[in-house]
Amino acid sequence: KVRVRFAPSPTGPLHMGGVRTALFNYLFAKKNGGDFILRIEDTDQTRFVPGAEEYIIESLKWCGLNPLEGPGIGGDFGPYRQSERKELYKGYADQLVESGRAYIAFDTPEEIDTLRKEAEANKATFSYGIGTRENLNNSLNLSAEEVHKKLEAGDNYVIRFKMPEDLDVTEDDLIRGTVTFNTTKSLDDKVLFKSDGMPTYHLANVVDDHLMKITHVIRGEEWLPSMPLHVLLYKALGWEETKPRFAHLPLILKPVGKGKLSKRDGDKMGFPVFPLEWKDPKTGDISRGYREDGYFPEAFINLLALLGWNPGTEQEFFSIEELSEIFSLERVVKSGSRFDPEKAKWFNKHYFQQKTETELARLFKPVLTGKGVAASDEKIVRVVAEVKERCEFVSDLWEQSHFFFEAPESYDEKTVKKRWKEDTPGKLSAIAELFENIEDWKAESIKEPFSVFMNEKEWSFGAIMNPLRLCLVGGNLGPDLFVICEILGKEETISRIESAVK
Ligand code: GLU
Repeated sequence: KVRVRFAPSPTGPLHMGGVRTALFNYLFAKKNGGDFILRIEDTDQTRFVPGAEEYIIESLKWCGLNPLEGPGIGGDFGPYRQSERKELYKGYADQLVESGRAYIAFDTPEEIDTLRKEAEANKATFSYGIGTRENLNNSLNLSAEEVHKKLEAGDNYVIRFKMPEDLDVTEDDLIRGTVTFNTTKSLDDKVLFKSDGMPTYHLANVVDDHLMKITHVIRGEEWLPSMPLHVLLYKALGWEETKPRFAHLPLILKPVGKGKLSKRDGDKMGFPVFPLEWKDPKTGDISRGYREDGYFPEAFINLLALLGWNPGTEQEFFSIEELSEIFSLERVVKSGSRFDPEKAKWFNKHYFQQKTETELARLFKPVLTGKGVAASDEKIVRVVAEVKERCEFVSDLWEQSHFFFEAPESYDEKTVKKRWKEDTPGKLSAIAELFENIEDWKAESIKEPFSVFMNEKEWSFGAIMNPLRLCLVGGNLGPDLFVICEILGKEETISRIESAVK
């Protein structure tokens, strides 16, 4: 049975790239009748950020990516928070030491730092591994007795993987195809277990994927360099037969220029990179989120799905259910895909237009309440129906319709200059009088007597319509004027004309 996991580290808010990883895992599970699991990888206590785990869980919920198993949900393979599985990892690290695949290293962080600085001074980089480990303070070089003594004395130590020499590690990535890494050329002896009693990401990740019966590891491209180590760990632990398949997702690139999408691009260009708003617990800085910016989760999911995956057709709009039926890793591309903030808005507009007027009115109501406006549901629905077409976001509704709910406080100067003539107030007062006598206050039944009246007076429409609009909405905007009159109601329409001609 297909089992995949999303395994974020709670080191900060989830980025769009992270949500896309979750989404592709989710879709792959759905498509294959498998399980989608959430695992929190919190073994690096120095990078732990309070609130990050809650943020991740809330983001997944908002996106509708509900895990079958995970922290707070349960499941047969828990706990799903690595810090709660702490006791479990040491045994595997010890097993690797015993079998000679790993070793104990006593070098202090200061010593390693010195070596690093020395190397830097020679324009080189220090790495702990083949070629250096032979001269360092570890169990490969110390006698069993010495090691024992140090351990007894309580010396700090880490457990490192012993990278085999000059081995080509080849793995078939489901997206990139066959990938080969040479151990001597590119791999150092990674720490598996730390002096604080915690495993590192590498050990915990492999152990948990094995114990949780994960069949496919779908994750970001930044983890590709870790794949050979993970492959070797599966082998060293005797789990080669059930080793998961790997799929490394391409980067999401900046809208313009080179490189991967970062929070700074978002800040600079005014779009969010986080699903939800994030308040940095240290600085108190707030970063915008898609949710707060008024994006619908459907739109967010749709745009994410197309960052790296394509259906092979021209179709661009997909519901999550549809994606769950057609998603495949074969259609994920190798190269990075560029994020386009304008396209993101376009997706939102589509889902906005799909919503019923009643739904939009329900979403719009709190905005109105926030502005101190009380209006009947019926009126809100009616207004939404009139202006919806011009909007991409719920927040646009206010911009397009505020005049339905509040009388203009000022009048657009340009229009006044151009259209407000000496005889305008008199003419508008006559119109107001005409309006007084209209019984059936509907757009059509206002328009008709109005036209007759205008013809009788031989007044030009152009000279009246603009000033009348000015009275009602304060500027040169809004839908059909008679529709505005109808929605405002007779009393309000007349009162606005009267205030303007005063
Ligand atoms: N904890 C890693 C992360 O934060 C997980 C990488 C993986 O999926 O193996 O991305």
